Amino acid sequence: MLSVELIDSLFPVDLPDPAHWESRYPARTLPADAKVTRFAPSPTGWLHIGGIFTASVNLDLARHSGGRYLLRIEDTDQARFEEGALAQFEAGFEYFGIEADESDAAGGSYGPYTQSVRAEIYQTYVRELMRQGKAYPCFETPEQAEARVARQKTVGALPGYYGEWAIWRDAPEDQVRARLDAGDPYVVRFRSPGIGGARVSFTDLIRGELSSDDNRNDVVILKRSDTAPRLPTYHFAHAVDDHLMGITLVVRGEEWISSVPLHHQLFDALGFPRIPYAHVAPLMKQDGGSRRKLSKRRDPEASVGYYIEQGFPAEAVLYYLRGLANGRLAELPLPAALAEPLRLSEFGVAGPLLDIVKLDDISADYVSTLPGAEILDRLLPWLTEYDKDLASVVVAQRDLALRALDVERVNTEKPRKDLHKWADFRGVYGFFFPEVFELVTDPADERFGGLAPDLVRALASGFAAGYLEPGPGVTTWFDQIRTLAGDLGFALRQKDYKKNPDAYPGSIADAAGAIRVLITGSRQSPDLEQTCAALGRNEVLRRVTALA
Ligand code: GLU
Repeated sequence: MLSVELIDSLFPVDLPDPAHWESRYPARTLPADAKVTRFAPSPTGWLHIGGIFTASVNLDLARHSGGRYLLRIEDTDQARFEEGALAQFEAGFEYFGIEADESDAAGGSYGPYTQSVRAEIYQTYVRELMRQGKAYPCFETPEQAEARVARQKTVGALPGYYGEWAIWRDAPEDQVRARLDAGDPYVVRFRSPGIGGARVSFTDLIRGELSSDDNRNDVVILKRSDTAPRLPTYHFAHAVDDHLMGITLVVRGEEWISSVPLHHQLFDALGFPRIPYAHVAPLMKQDGGSRRKLSKRRDPEASVGYYIEQGFPAEAVLYYLRGLANGRLAELPLPAALAEPLRLSEFGVAGPLLDIVKLDDISADYVSTLPGAEILDRLLPWLTEYDKDLASVVVAQRDLALRALDVERVNTEKPRKDLHKWADFRGVYGFFFPEVFELVTDPADERFGGLAPDLVRALASGFAAGYLEPGPGVTTWFDQIRTLAGDLGFALRQKDYKKNPDAYPGSIADAAGAIRVLITGSRQSPDLEQTCAALGRNEVLRRVTALA
């Protein structure tokens, strides 16, 4: 075992002892069943929708138990730090309303909540493990590591730093001192108590009893001595943080299950009580006949940015995700499902399928329940960000926007469901706005379905001449068209037209369709009478008389 004197010489003289940090971060005084949870993303890339899911589960479990939810930034891997990742996390949490009780932004007495600024704390505990002979300096160079791995491959041994391969594990003090004197850089490794071939078991709150090979790898806990700040690895930092921050439940991605044996060894070695784990299965995607993990690289919907850019209302996404986690909640109406607590015991072991078409429908259902004014309030910030031109149009014509949104939305049992997400707005409601609508000026336009241009003209001018603003006691537009179409020789009954198509220029449906195209630009549009009322007489006439 190395002498305390040598070990201490590796650290600043004024480095505090663990007792200092234990009193700086005292145990929390919360009721026994209050859960303190955390979400701990690494800013090494953009946030996966699964991250929002995991974060929201952590938040939910904390809130419903009267506990605390923390956001911790795990940025010890500075080489892979990605510029902009933090801003993107923030945008994602804000969009989905995932507000931490404690974080660097929110404050809290257990901070700072970013690992790179907690270097001193980790060093205390690294030194402590070294003093106890549970960690040691290792001078293996990257080239030597490469050669070791190659040799391990040749002889069929598992890669890693363990057993006979761990040459610095029990290196004598003078050898260590010589390397230190020579100024050689080193890392600090954890002396794993694991024995090759041993099995360990542990309880996962979602998966139940699990067992796996124990860890026997002497993992690096403190990075190279020639880097500044001298940071620990994730494994070590997370153990120290979860302990000092008083975390009582860890809910995280399934990819960390294989690290549990190591994490337990670290907790035990540090003298920290173990913390219960729940590992959440990843979101899956149907790909042809098989399922695979939703992939950051291949699937746009894996990115949180996708939901924000498309303007899916956050509640709809959260509702969908919660339903995937706890099937029971998918059966409830949205407000109830968002308010009900999640239960870890109901999470599946197999990853649930994220079906974007399903989400689209759920979102449409949700939007259809919102009053027009609320839709507008939610929509405008989105438009301002992603469709500035339309945003100014809508702001300038707020009343028209509200009238448009009310078409087939008020006084109906079955409100329209064509607005699934904010990105649909231009396509579905854009035509209401004169600045967006493109007048149909060509009587031979193919949207008229091949009607003779003269007839299109006659329909248009006849409709304009007899146009009556919709309102109480006013003949409906369809009656107007009927009369007009009859005068122009159209078949008034579809049946008659079908029987003898050559006898007519078209059917009443063709005549009505032509008027619809003139007013809305499409043969498929919301109720025309309500649409005309929303547009107002002048605008309807402007559109109907635009033919060249
Ligand atoms: N920083 C880890 C990650 O990026 C967190 C793992 C954990 O929650 O323990 O996923």
